[in-house]
Amino acid sequence: MNKIGIIGGMSPESTALYYTQINRKVNQRLGKNHSADLLLHSVDFETIVQLQRNSEWEKAGQLLAQSAVMLEKMGAKGLVLATNTMHKVAATIEARCQIPLIHIIDCTASVIKQAGFDKIALLGTAFTMSDGFYTERMQQFGIQILSPEAEQQAEIHRIIFDELCLNRINPTSRDYYLNVIQELKSQGAQGVILGCTEICLLINADNCSLPIFDSTEIHTQAAVDFMLKAK
Ligand code: GLU
Repeated sequence: MNKIGIIGGMSPESTALYYTQINRKVNQRLGKNHSADLLLHSVDFETIVQLQRNSEWEKAGQLLAQSAVMLEKMGAKGLVLATNTMHKVAATIEARCQIPLIHIIDCTASVIKQAGFDKIALLGTAFTMSDGFYTERMQQFGIQILSPEAEQQAEIHRIIFDELCLNRINPTSRDYYLNVIQELKSQGAQGVILGCTEICLLINADNCSLPIFDSTEIHTQAAVDFMLKAK
């Protein structure tokens, strides 16, 4: 098994999902009492939140690159950055490591392409929805992103940081998300990307009117494929 290094803590709630999902998927594939050979560095999320707020992206990138270097030194053969938003600084991390970063946008785009879709709604943090790094990379795969309106983005963002990242699950917030998804569906979205690794705590295939592309589930699957691929 290729040992994986997870850069997590953004937030701890989604990192817990990564840990559980990766272990379960490895066990499903290998059976017996097999589990994931992994390393996890979980950062203090507040440090990252402050750097985001102050637009200190280069500093945040260097901080996460330090984690990556540490995980590489400890024997990781590949890296998973367990957040969509911080893929804004993926290039900074990649520049400091020899091992591959399993890129969350690329994995998500491949699954959308396999489903035969090319016009997809995106929910995530305001950074993910509006600052371009996410939508431009999706465009390279021929996928057009439909984002919520600015006011809706602000509320979706608030719910992520004030509720989901703290494991506060609020039915009113779920309804808010579902209404936004419905609106994007009426604008032609064929599916919706849960482009924040905590949104699956609120939205799933059972409560959503559009096919979902859950970045957490897609990313953990890609991690396990990497771990179990022949050397
Ligand atoms: N986990 C989130 C994401 O996937 C948001 C937390 C962060 O800002 O990293 O974007």
